[in-house]
Amino acid sequence: MNRIDGRNDDSLRNIDITVNFTEVSGGSVLINWGKTRVICTALLEEGTMPFLKDTGKGWLTAEYAMLPSSTGGRKKRETLKPDGRSTEIKRLIGRALRQAVDFEALGEKTIWIDCDVIQADGGTRTASITGAYVALALGVKKWLKQGLISKNPLVHQVAAVSVGINGDTPLLDLCYREDSSAEVDMNLVMDDTGAFIEIQGTGEGRAFTAAELNKLLALGEKGIKEIMKIQNEAIK
Ligand code: UDP
Repeated sequence: MNRIDGRNDDSLRNIDITVNFTEVSGGSVLINWGKTRVICTALLEEGTMPFLKDTGKGWLTAEYAMLPSSTGGRKKRETLKPDGRSTEIKRLIGRALRQAVDFEALGEKTIWIDCDVIQADGGTRTASITGAYVALALGVKKWLKQGLISKNPLVHQVAAVSVGINGDTPLLDLCYREDSSAEVDMNLVMDDTGAFIEIQGTGEGRAFTAAELNKLLALGEKGIKEIMKIQNEAIK
């Protein structure tokens, strides 16, 4: 099958990560993933969530938004509170990145992940998670050097990718045009041991079989291995 941008079915779009994209006290990256572009930052704050006070454990929380000009029609600016989709995505980013961190090693501190989409062409949540991990790893290096934290709290590398089925063809890493016409749409988050952190999969145009699911998982696993190499290149 011919893909819109000429890629093979199991090929990723071009992923490029600019580290230290803005000057911040933690980590900051711009992730260009095909035409999707997201700024991801990781900042550290003293103090933990109220429900963790006096436990010695910290927390990680995430925010996500698309800028009004990030997409074809203007997206309403989320000035007061995030819309339903952004709320779902920020919670996904938080759950994903929490698996990277040992909160006892972090101590009673909070890591804030912020993902701001400046251009959206599909896969903004997977680009956010992938970029945020790099921002987090860069932030941790800085905080250790500055003595803001005493132990390295990172226990896993985390990355994400989308997969889907167009017609009957499983595809890796869908751009917006592919995503909007996909029969099945799925987002996968994995760690460096090859284990799944989250699977969001929907039969949007039709239901899918267990055999198709397994094909999509294998495709995602292949993509995530490649993405983790790109993350590690950016971090070192
Ligand atoms: N999109 C958009 N406006 C919106 C929401 C989504 O233009 O308000 C587009 C955008 O290109 C996005 C794509 O639809 O990347 C797919 O959105 P989805 O909710 O599936 O999440 P994503 O694939 O970005 O993680």
